[in-house]
Amino acid sequence: MNQTDNMKNVSNSKGNNLQADVVIVGTGVGGCFSALNLSEDLSIIMITKSDLESSDSFLAQGGICVLHDDDDYDSYFEDTMRAGHYENRKESVDIMIRGSQDVIHDLIGYGVDFAKEDGKLLYTREGAHSRPRILFHEDITGKEITSKLLAQIKTRKNIQIMEYTTMTDILISQGACAGIEAETSDYKKIYIHADQTIFASGGIGGRYQHSTNFPHLTGDALDISKKHGIRLEHLDYVQIHPTTLYSKKPGRRFLISESVRGEGALLYDKNGNRFVDELLPRDVVTKAIQEQMKKDGTDHVWLSLEKIPKEIILSHFPNIYQHCLEEGYDATKEWIPVVPAQHYFMGGIWVDSDSHTSMPNLYAVGETSCNGVHGKNRLASNSLLESLVFAKRAARKIMSEKQMNKATA
Ligand SMILES: Cc1cc2nc3c(=O)[nH]c(=O)nc-3n(C[C@H](O)[C@H](O)[C@H](O)COP(=O)(O)OP(=O)(O)OC[C@H]3O[C@@H](n4cnc5c(N)ncnc54)[C@H](O)[C@@H]3O)c2cc1C
Repeated sequence: MNQTDNMKNVSNSKGNNLQADVVIVGTGVGGCFSALNLSEDLSIIMITKSDLESSDSFLAQGGICVLHDDDDYDSYFEDTMRAGHYENRKESVDIMIRGSQDVIHDLIGYGVDFAKEDGKLLYTREGAHSRPRILFHEDITGKEITSKLLAQIKTRKNIQIMEYTTMTDILISQGACAGIEAETSDYKKIYIHADQTIFASGGIGGRYQHSTNFPHLTGDALDISKKHGIRLEHLDYVQIHPTTLYSKKPGRRFLISESVRGEGALLYDKNGNRFVDELLPRDVVTKAIQEQMKKDGTDHVWLSLEKIPKEIILSHFPNIYQHCLEEGYDATKEWIPVVPAQHYFMGGIWVDSDSHTSMPNLYAVGETSCNGVHGKNRLASNSLLESLVFAKRAARKIMSEKQMNKATA
Protein backbone atom coordinates (compact mmCIF):
# COMPACT_ATOMS: atom_id res chain seq x y z
CA MET A 1 0.00 0.00 0.00
CA ASN A 2 1.30 3.41 -0.87
CA GLN A 3 -1.47 5.71 0.30
CA THR A 4 0.75 8.51 1.58
CA ASP A 5 -0.70 12.01 1.65
CA ASN A 6 0.16 14.03 -1.39
CA MET A 7 -1.79 17.17 -0.46
CA LYS A 8 1.48 19.00 0.16
CA ASN A 9 1.95 19.35 -3.61
CA VAL A 10 -1.27 21.23 -3.75
CA SER A 11 -0.51 23.96 -1.27
CA ASN A 12 2.47 24.96 -3.45
CA SER A 13 0.33 25.69 -6.46
CA LYS A 14 -1.94 28.65 -5.77
CA GLY A 15 -4.36 29.66 -8.49
CA ASN A 16 -4.80 26.18 -9.91
CA ASN A 17 -7.04 24.87 -7.17
CA LEU A 18 -10.72 24.14 -7.75
CA GLN A 19 -13.22 22.94 -5.21
CA ALA A 20 -16.28 20.72 -5.65
CA ASP A 21 -18.41 18.39 -3.57
CA VAL A 22 -17.93 15.66 -6.17
CA VAL A 23 -15.47 15.34 -9.05
CA ILE A 24 -16.30 12.86 -11.82
CA VAL A 25 -13.67 11.65 -14.27
CA GLY A 26 -15.40 10.79 -17.55
CA THR A 27 -18.50 11.91 -19.41
CA GLY A 28 -19.78 8.61 -20.81
CA VAL A 29 -22.93 6.97 -19.46
CA GLY A 30 -21.26 6.08 -16.15
CA GLY A 31 -20.16 9.64 -15.43
CA CYS A 32 -23.34 11.30 -16.68
CA PHE A 33 -25.75 9.03 -14.82
CA SER A 34 -23.77 9.41 -11.58
CA ALA A 35 -23.98 13.20 -11.92
CA LEU A 36 -27.69 13.20 -12.74
CA ASN A 37 -28.49 11.06 -9.70
CA LEU A 38 -26.67 13.35 -7.28
CA SER A 39 -28.60 16.08 -5.57
CA GLU A 40 -28.69 19.43 -7.35
CA ASP A 41 -27.40 21.20 -4.29
CA LEU A 42 -24.02 19.49 -4.61
CA SER A 43 -21.37 21.18 -6.73
CA ILE A 44 -20.04 18.74 -9.32
CA ILE A 45 -17.09 19.01 -11.70
CA MET A 46 -16.94 16.54 -14.60
CA ILE A 47 -13.80 16.24 -16.69
CA THR A 48 -13.12 14.45 -19.94
CA LYS A 49 -9.85 13.78 -21.69
CA SER A 50 -11.34 14.60 -25.09
CA ASP A 51 -14.52 16.28 -26.35
CA LEU A 52 -17.92 15.32 -24.94
CA GLU A 53 -18.91 13.09 -27.84
CA SER A 54 -15.72 11.00 -27.76
CA SER A 55 -16.63 8.29 -25.30
CA ASP A 56 -17.31 4.62 -25.99
CA SER A 57 -20.81 5.21 -24.71
CA PHE A 58 -21.50 7.07 -27.97
CA LEU A 59 -20.35 4.03 -29.96
CA ALA A 60 -22.70 1.44 -28.50
CA GLN A 61 -24.68 0.00 -31.38
CA GLY A 62 -26.69 -3.06 -30.44
CA GLY A 63 -28.70 -1.88 -27.47
CA ILE A 64 -29.35 -2.13 -23.77
CA CYS A 65 -30.71 -5.15 -21.91
CA VAL A 66 -33.73 -5.00 -19.67
CA LEU A 67 -35.64 -7.58 -17.69
CA HIS A 68 -38.44 -8.23 -20.17
CA ASP A 69 -40.94 -9.35 -17.50
CA ASP A 70 -40.82 -11.17 -14.16
CA ASP A 71 -40.83 -14.56 -15.90
CA ASP A 72 -37.60 -13.60 -17.65
CA TYR A 73 -35.55 -13.24 -14.43
CA ASP A 74 -34.18 -16.81 -14.22
CA SER A 75 -33.37 -16.98 -17.89
CA TYR A 76 -31.65 -13.54 -17.96
CA PHE A 77 -29.67 -14.45 -14.82
CA GLU A 78 -28.59 -17.77 -16.31
CA ASP A 79 -27.62 -16.22 -19.69
CA THR A 80 -25.42 -13.64 -17.90
CA MET A 81 -23.81 -16.31 -15.71
CA ARG A 82 -23.25 -18.75 -18.57
CA ALA A 83 -21.62 -16.10 -20.75
CA GLY A 84 -19.43 -15.13 -17.77
CA HIS A 85 -18.30 -18.76 -17.27
CA TYR A 86 -20.07 -18.68 -13.87
CA GLU A 87 -17.30 -16.46 -12.49
CA ASN A 88 -19.75 -13.56 -12.08
CA ARG A 89 -20.49 -12.05 -8.68
CA LYS A 90 -24.08 -13.28 -8.25
CA GLU A 91 -25.08 -10.36 -6.03
CA SER A 92 -24.08 -7.90 -8.79
CA VAL A 93 -25.96 -9.81 -11.48
CA ASP A 94 -29.07 -9.77 -9.30
CA ILE A 95 -28.73 -6.03 -8.63
CA MET A 96 -28.27 -5.26 -12.33
CA ILE A 97 -31.26 -7.31 -13.47
CA ARG A 98 -33.57 -6.03 -10.73
CA GLY A 99 -32.45 -2.44 -11.38
CA SER A 100 -32.90 -2.61 -15.14
CA GLN A 101 -36.55 -1.56 -15.53
CA ASP A 102 -36.07 1.40 -13.21
CA VAL A 103 -33.08 2.63 -15.25
CA ILE A 104 -34.97 2.23 -18.55
CA HIS A 105 -37.84 4.20 -17.00
CA ASP A 106 -35.36 6.98 -16.09
CA LEU A 107 -33.91 7.00 -19.62
CA ILE A 108 -37.32 7.26 -21.23
CA GLY A 109 -38.01 10.12 -18.82
CA TYR A 110 -34.91 11.88 -20.18
CA GLY A 111 -36.32 11.53 -23.68
CA VAL A 112 -34.45 8.43 -24.90
CA ASP A 113 -36.36 7.12 -27.89
CA PHE A 114 -36.25 3.31 -28.03
CA ALA A 115 -37.66 1.51 -31.08
CA LYS A 116 -41.37 0.77 -30.82
CA GLU A 117 -44.06 -1.08 -32.75
CA ASP A 118 -47.70 -0.09 -32.34
CA GLY A 119 -46.64 2.09 -29.42
CA LYS A 120 -44.98 -0.84 -27.57
CA LEU A 121 -41.25 -1.21 -26.96
CA LEU A 122 -39.54 -3.51 -29.46
CA TYR A 123 -37.04 -6.07 -28.12
CA THR A 124 -34.20 -7.52 -30.16
CA ARG A 125 -31.88 -10.44 -29.45
CA GLU A 126 -28.11 -10.84 -29.47
CA GLY A 127 -25.66 -13.73 -29.13
CA ALA A 128 -26.01 -15.91 -26.00
CA HIS A 129 -29.39 -14.41 -25.04
CA SER A 130 -32.07 -17.07 -24.90
CA ARG A 131 -34.83 -14.57 -25.75
CA PRO A 132 -35.22 -11.01 -27.08
CA ARG A 133 -34.71 -8.54 -24.18
CA ILE A 134 -32.67 -5.76 -25.74
CA LEU A 135 -33.99 -2.25 -26.36
CA PHE A 136 -32.42 -0.28 -29.17
CA HIS A 137 -32.50 2.88 -31.23
CA GLU A 138 -31.56 1.90 -34.80
CA ASP A 139 -27.91 0.83 -34.51
CA ILE A 140 -26.88 3.94 -32.57
CA THR A 141 -28.35 3.17 -29.15
CA GLY A 142 -25.33 4.54 -27.27
CA LYS A 143 -25.46 7.87 -29.06
CA GLU A 144 -29.19 8.18 -28.40
CA ILE A 145 -28.78 7.47 -24.67
CA THR A 146 -25.58 9.45 -24.03
CA SER A 147 -26.59 12.54 -25.97
CA LYS A 148 -29.89 12.69 -24.06
CA LEU A 149 -28.04 12.33 -20.73
CA LEU A 150 -25.57 15.06 -21.72
CA ALA A 151 -28.46 17.33 -22.71
CA GLN A 152 -29.81 16.92 -19.16
CA ILE A 153 -26.38 17.55 -17.65
CA LYS A 154 -26.16 20.84 -19.54
CA THR A 155 -29.37 22.05 -17.91
CA ARG A 156 -27.97 21.50 -14.41
CA LYS A 157 -26.46 24.64 -12.96
CA ASN A 158 -24.57 22.66 -10.30
CA ILE A 159 -22.52 20.72 -12.87
CA GLN A 160 -19.42 22.18 -14.51
CA ILE A 161 -17.88 20.29 -17.44
CA MET A 162 -14.22 20.58 -18.41
CA GLU A 163 -13.31 19.10 -21.80
CA TYR A 164 -9.77 18.19 -22.88
CA THR A 165 -8.74 17.81 -19.25
CA THR A 166 -6.86 14.67 -18.24
CA MET A 167 -6.67 13.19 -14.76
CA THR A 168 -3.03 12.46 -13.97
CA ASP A 169 -3.28 11.47 -10.30
CA ILE A 170 -5.51 11.56 -7.25
CA LEU A 171 -5.12 13.71 -4.14
CA ILE A 172 -4.90 11.81 -0.87
CA SER A 173 -5.45 13.10 2.63
CA GLN A 174 -5.22 10.83 5.67
CA GLY A 175 -5.51 7.74 3.49
CA ALA A 176 -8.70 8.93 1.79
CA CYS A 177 -9.20 10.30 -1.70
CA ALA A 178 -9.51 14.08 -1.62
CA GLY A 179 -9.93 14.84 -5.31
CA ILE A 180 -7.76 14.68 -8.39
CA GLU A 181 -4.81 16.24 -10.14
CA ALA A 182 -5.33 16.95 -13.83
CA GLU A 183 -3.76 18.58 -16.85
CA THR A 184 -5.59 20.94 -19.19
CA SER A 185 -5.08 21.06 -22.97
CA ASP A 186 -2.55 23.87 -22.52
CA TYR A 187 -0.51 21.68 -20.15
CA LYS A 188 -1.61 23.55 -17.04
CA LYS A 189 -1.73 21.43 -13.85
CA ILE A 190 -4.92 21.82 -11.86
CA TYR A 191 -6.02 20.36 -8.52
CA ILE A 192 -9.68 19.60 -8.03
CA HIS A 193 -10.41 19.14 -4.33
CA ALA A 194 -13.54 17.16 -3.64
CA ASP A 195 -15.24 15.30 -0.81
CA GLN A 196 -16.00 12.44 -3.17
CA THR A 197 -14.36 11.30 -6.40
CA ILE A 198 -15.90 9.05 -9.04
CA PHE A 199 -13.79 7.33 -11.70
CA ALA A 200 -15.93 6.83 -14.81
CA SER A 201 -13.06 6.71 -17.24
CA GLY A 202 -14.00 3.75 -19.42
CA GLY A 203 -11.95 0.91 -20.86
CA ILE A 204 -8.46 0.09 -22.05
CA GLY A 205 -8.82 -0.30 -25.83
CA GLY A 206 -6.41 2.54 -26.54
CA ARG A 207 -3.61 0.26 -25.40
CA TYR A 208 -4.30 -2.20 -28.22
CA GLN A 209 -3.34 -2.04 -31.88
CA HIS A 210 -6.77 -3.35 -32.96
CA SER A 211 -9.70 -2.20 -30.86
CA THR A 212 -13.23 -0.92 -31.30
CA ASN A 213 -12.59 1.66 -28.53
CA PHE A 214 -11.54 5.29 -28.77
CA PRO A 215 -7.71 5.47 -28.68
CA HIS A 216 -7.66 7.92 -25.76
CA LEU A 217 -9.22 5.30 -23.47
CA THR A 218 -6.04 3.92 -21.98
CA GLY A 219 -7.06 2.79 -18.50
CA ASP A 220 -5.49 5.80 -16.76
CA ALA A 221 -7.53 5.27 -13.59
CA LEU A 222 -6.14 1.75 -13.36
CA ASP A 223 -2.54 2.97 -13.45
CA ILE A 224 -3.30 5.58 -10.79
CA SER A 225 -5.07 2.98 -8.64
CA LYS A 226 -2.17 0.57 -8.96
CA LYS A 227 0.27 3.30 -7.91
CA HIS A 228 -1.72 3.96 -4.73
CA GLY A 229 -2.44 0.36 -3.80
CA ILE A 230 -6.17 0.56 -4.60
CA ARG A 231 -7.55 -2.92 -5.17
CA LEU A 232 -7.81 -4.13 -8.77
CA GLU A 233 -9.49 -7.27 -10.04
CA HIS A 234 -9.29 -9.60 -13.07
CA LEU A 235 -6.92 -7.50 -15.16
CA ASP A 236 -6.64 -10.35 -17.65
CA TYR A 237 -10.39 -10.48 -18.42
CA VAL A 238 -10.43 -8.72 -21.78
CA GLN A 239 -13.19 -9.31 -24.32
CA ILE A 240 -12.33 -9.66 -27.97
CA HIS A 241 -15.36 -8.96 -30.18
CA PRO A 242 -15.73 -11.58 -32.92
CA THR A 243 -16.93 -9.30 -35.70
CA THR A 244 -15.34 -5.98 -36.62
CA LEU A 245 -15.08 -4.85 -40.22
CA TYR A 246 -11.74 -5.98 -41.65
CA SER A 247 -9.66 -3.07 -42.89
CA LYS A 248 -6.03 -2.47 -43.75
CA LYS A 249 -6.35 1.14 -42.58
CA PRO A 250 -4.88 2.00 -39.14
CA GLY A 251 -7.13 3.27 -36.30
CA ARG A 252 -10.27 2.21 -34.48
CA ARG A 253 -11.97 -0.93 -35.78
CA PHE A 254 -15.60 -0.57 -36.84
CA LEU A 255 -17.93 -2.90 -34.95
CA ILE A 256 -20.46 -5.09 -36.69
CA SER A 257 -22.90 -5.49 -33.81
CA GLU A 258 -23.84 -8.86 -32.43
CA SER A 259 -27.47 -8.01 -33.09
CA VAL A 260 -26.73 -8.43 -36.82
CA ARG A 261 -26.04 -12.10 -36.05
CA GLY A 262 -29.01 -12.04 -33.67
CA GLU A 263 -31.18 -11.07 -36.65
CA GLY A 264 -29.80 -13.95 -38.75
CA ALA A 265 -26.39 -13.06 -40.26
CA LEU A 266 -24.12 -16.06 -40.85
CA LEU A 267 -20.34 -16.55 -40.72
CA TYR A 268 -18.51 -18.28 -43.58
CA ASP A 269 -14.92 -19.44 -44.11
CA LYS A 270 -12.96 -18.78 -47.29
CA ASN A 271 -14.78 -21.62 -49.07
CA GLY A 272 -18.24 -20.37 -48.11
CA ASN A 273 -18.82 -22.99 -45.38
CA ARG A 274 -20.29 -22.22 -41.95
CA PHE A 275 -17.94 -23.19 -39.12
CA VAL A 276 -19.62 -22.04 -35.88
CA ASP A 277 -23.03 -21.38 -34.32
CA GLU A 278 -23.16 -17.57 -34.68
CA LEU A 279 -25.21 -17.11 -31.49
CA LEU A 280 -22.76 -18.66 -29.06
CA PRO A 281 -21.08 -16.34 -26.50
CA ARG A 282 -18.53 -13.87 -27.85
CA ASP A 283 -15.41 -15.61 -26.58
CA VAL A 284 -16.49 -18.92 -28.16
CA VAL A 285 -17.26 -17.33 -31.55
CA THR A 286 -13.99 -15.34 -31.43
CA LYS A 287 -11.98 -18.50 -30.78
CA ALA A 288 -13.71 -20.31 -33.64
CA ILE A 289 -12.98 -17.42 -36.05
CA GLN A 290 -9.33 -17.21 -34.97
CA GLU A 291 -8.89 -20.97 -35.46
CA GLN A 292 -10.61 -20.83 -38.86
CA MET A 293 -8.41 -17.92 -40.03
CA LYS A 294 -5.32 -19.87 -38.95
CA LYS A 295 -6.51 -23.01 -40.73
CA ASP A 296 -7.39 -21.08 -43.92
CA GLY A 297 -4.33 -18.77 -43.78
CA THR A 298 -6.62 -15.71 -44.09
CA ASP A 299 -6.78 -12.29 -42.38
CA HIS A 300 -10.57 -12.42 -41.96
CA VAL A 301 -13.71 -14.54 -42.38
CA TRP A 302 -16.97 -13.49 -44.08
CA LEU A 303 -20.28 -12.31 -42.65
CA SER A 304 -23.37 -12.71 -44.80
CA LEU A 305 -26.51 -10.67 -44.15
CA GLU A 306 -28.42 -12.28 -47.02
CA LYS A 307 -30.93 -13.99 -44.66
CA ILE A 308 -31.94 -10.59 -43.21
CA PRO A 309 -34.60 -8.76 -45.27
CA LYS A 310 -33.22 -5.64 -46.93
CA GLU A 311 -35.76 -3.38 -45.17
CA ILE A 312 -34.58 -4.68 -41.75
CA ILE A 313 -30.94 -4.01 -42.69
CA LEU A 314 -31.81 -0.47 -43.75
CA SER A 315 -34.09 0.32 -40.80
CA HIS A 316 -32.36 -1.52 -37.92
CA PHE A 317 -28.73 -1.19 -39.07
CA PRO A 318 -28.52 2.01 -41.17
CA ASN A 319 -25.22 3.11 -39.65
CA ILE A 320 -23.53 -0.27 -40.19
CA TYR A 321 -24.93 -0.45 -43.73
CA GLN A 322 -23.64 3.04 -44.54
CA HIS A 323 -20.21 2.47 -43.05
CA CYS A 324 -19.75 -0.82 -44.96
CA LEU A 325 -20.82 0.97 -48.14
CA GLU A 326 -18.18 3.65 -47.56
CA GLU A 327 -15.60 0.86 -47.18
CA GLY A 328 -16.75 -0.64 -50.50
CA TYR A 329 -19.20 -3.37 -49.36
CA ASP A 330 -22.95 -3.33 -50.00
CA ALA A 331 -24.14 -5.51 -47.11
CA THR A 332 -27.54 -6.04 -48.74
CA LYS A 333 -25.86 -7.68 -51.75
CA GLU A 334 -22.49 -9.10 -50.73
CA TRP A 335 -20.62 -10.68 -47.84
CA ILE A 336 -18.48 -8.43 -45.68
CA PRO A 337 -15.02 -9.34 -44.30
CA VAL A 338 -14.86 -9.46 -40.49
CA VAL A 339 -12.11 -10.02 -37.94
CA PRO A 340 -12.00 -10.14 -34.11
CA ALA A 341 -10.67 -7.06 -32.20
CA GLN A 342 -10.31 -5.92 -28.58
CA HIS A 343 -13.66 -4.59 -27.41
CA TYR A 344 -14.37 -4.60 -23.69
CA PHE A 345 -12.65 -4.92 -20.32
CA MET A 346 -14.45 -7.07 -17.74
CA GLY A 347 -11.78 -6.53 -15.06
CA GLY A 348 -10.91 -3.21 -13.48
CA ILE A 349 -10.90 -1.34 -10.20
CA TRP A 350 -12.55 -3.57 -7.61
CA VAL A 351 -15.76 -2.07 -6.24
CA ASP A 352 -18.42 -3.22 -3.79
CA SER A 353 -22.12 -3.33 -4.61
CA ASP A 354 -22.35 0.47 -4.16
CA SER A 355 -19.44 1.05 -6.58
CA HIS A 356 -17.13 2.04 -3.73
CA THR A 357 -13.43 1.20 -4.21
CA SER A 358 -11.03 0.03 -1.52
CA MET A 359 -10.02 3.67 -0.83
CA PRO A 360 -12.31 5.87 1.29
CA ASN A 361 -14.20 8.57 -0.65
CA LEU A 362 -13.34 7.02 -4.02
CA TYR A 363 -15.93 5.36 -6.29
CA ALA A 364 -15.56 3.72 -9.70
CA VAL A 365 -18.38 3.08 -12.19
CA GLY A 366 -18.77 1.79 -15.73
CA GLU A 367 -16.12 -0.08 -17.66
CA THR A 368 -13.20 1.07 -15.51
CA SER A 369 -14.72 -0.66 -12.47
CA CYS A 370 -15.11 -4.33 -11.70
CA ASN A 371 -18.20 -5.22 -9.69
CA GLY A 372 -18.00 -8.75 -11.05
CA VAL A 373 -21.26 -8.57 -12.99
CA HIS A 374 -19.72 -9.88 -16.23
CA GLY A 375 -17.55 -12.63 -14.77
CA LYS A 376 -14.98 -13.75 -17.32
CA ASN A 377 -16.95 -12.68 -20.38
CA ARG A 378 -19.63 -10.02 -20.84
CA LEU A 379 -23.03 -10.91 -22.22
CA ALA A 380 -23.92 -8.62 -25.13
CA SER A 381 -25.71 -5.36 -24.22
CA ASN A 382 -25.16 -5.78 -20.48
CA SER A 383 -22.52 -3.05 -20.19
CA LEU A 384 -24.59 0.09 -20.77
CA LEU A 385 -27.09 -1.29 -18.29
CA GLU A 386 -24.46 -2.26 -15.72
CA SER A 387 -22.81 1.18 -16.01
CA LEU A 388 -26.14 2.94 -15.41
CA VAL A 389 -27.41 0.73 -12.57
CA PHE A 390 -24.16 0.95 -10.61
CA ALA A 391 -23.61 4.66 -11.35
CA LYS A 392 -27.01 5.32 -9.78
CA ARG A 393 -26.04 3.23 -6.75
CA ALA A 394 -22.79 5.20 -6.34
CA ALA A 395 -24.76 8.46 -6.39
CA ARG A 396 -27.32 7.11 -3.92
CA LYS A 397 -24.55 5.94 -1.57
CA ILE A 398 -22.86 9.34 -1.69
CA MET A 399 -26.18 11.03 -0.90
CA SER A 400 -27.00 8.69 1.97
CA GLU A 401 -23.53 9.12 3.52
CA LYS A 402 -23.95 12.89 3.28
CA GLN A 403 -27.27 12.63 5.10
CA MET A 404 -25.72 10.44 7.78
CA ASN A 405 -22.79 12.81 8.28
CA LYS A 406 -25.20 15.73 8.55
CA ALA A 407 -27.28 13.89 11.15
CA THR A 408 -24.24 13.02 13.27
CA ALA A 409 -22.55 16.44 12.92
C1 LIG B 1 -18.09 0.01 -30.76
C2 LIG B 1 -18.73 -0.33 -29.45
C3 LIG B 1 -20.02 -0.82 -29.40
C4 LIG B 1 -20.63 -1.13 -28.19
N1 LIG B 1 -21.91 -1.58 -28.18
C5 LIG B 1 -22.52 -1.80 -26.98
C6 LIG B 1 -23.90 -2.16 -26.94
O1 LIG B 1 -24.57 -2.27 -27.96
N2 LIG B 1 -24.46 -2.35 -25.71
C7 LIG B 1 -23.76 -2.23 -24.55
O2 LIG B 1 -24.33 -2.44 -23.47
N3 LIG B 1 -22.46 -1.87 -24.58
C8 LIG B 1 -21.83 -1.64 -25.75
N4 LIG B 1 -20.52 -1.26 -25.77
C9 LIG B 1 -19.81 -1.06 -24.50
C10 LIG B 1 -20.26 0.23 -23.84
O3 LIG B 1 -20.44 1.23 -24.82
C11 LIG B 1 -19.23 0.72 -22.84
O4 LIG B 1 -18.80 -0.33 -22.01
C12 LIG B 1 -19.82 1.80 -21.95
O5 LIG B 1 -20.39 2.80 -22.74
C13 LIG B 1 -18.75 2.37 -21.05
O6 LIG B 1 -19.22 3.55 -20.47
P1 LIG B 1 -18.29 4.34 -19.48
O7 LIG B 1 -19.07 5.50 -19.01
O8 LIG B 1 -17.73 3.40 -18.48
O9 LIG B 1 -17.03 4.78 -20.38
P2 LIG B 1 -16.94 5.67 -21.70
O10 LIG B 1 -18.24 5.91 -22.31
O11 LIG B 1 -15.88 5.06 -22.54
O12 LIG B 1 -16.41 7.06 -21.15
C14 LIG B 1 -15.11 7.18 -20.64
C15 LIG B 1 -14.87 8.64 -20.34
O13 LIG B 1 -13.70 8.79 -19.55
C16 LIG B 1 -12.89 9.82 -20.07
N5 LIG B 1 -11.51 9.58 -19.63
C17 LIG B 1 -10.74 8.48 -19.79
N6 LIG B 1 -9.53 8.67 -19.20
C18 LIG B 1 -9.55 9.92 -18.66
C19 LIG B 1 -8.62 10.70 -17.95
N7 LIG B 1 -7.39 10.25 -17.63
N8 LIG B 1 -8.96 11.95 -17.58
C20 LIG B 1 -10.18 12.47 -17.90
N9 LIG B 1 -11.12 11.77 -18.58
C21 LIG B 1 -10.81 10.51 -18.95
C22 LIG B 1 -13.13 9.75 -21.56
O14 LIG B 1 -12.72 10.91 -22.20
C23 LIG B 1 -14.64 9.50 -21.57
O15 LIG B 1 -15.33 10.73 -21.38
C24 LIG B 1 -19.90 -0.95 -26.99
C25 LIG B 1 -18.59 -0.47 -27.02
C26 LIG B 1 -18.01 -0.15 -28.24
C27 LIG B 1 -16.60 0.37 -28.25
